[in-house]
Amino acid sequence: MSAMTNMRCEEVVEHLLTFLDGEVEEERRSLMERHLEECRSCCSRADFELALRHKIREVAAKRPSSGLSRRIREIIDRF
Ligand SMILES: [Zn+2]
Repeated sequence: MSAMTNMRCEEVVEHLLTFLDGEVEEERRSLMERHLEECRSCCSRADFELALRHKIREVAAKRPSSGLSRRIREIIDRF
């Protein structure tokens, strides 16, 4: 019974990226959410992955438009 309701850490880690993408099945997602609430090691791993993704997205978003955003900031600075 507990095997049905509790996921193992390896299982959570295996599906973590899919989970963070929001592409994991509904049933698995609720099991993972419960696991992450109770498991500190998986929770900090999820936090790390989230922070990493945020950073990557930030850098990726900045790179192509850095010239444009600099110009916009220069314009704003003039006022
Ligand atoms: Zn865990």
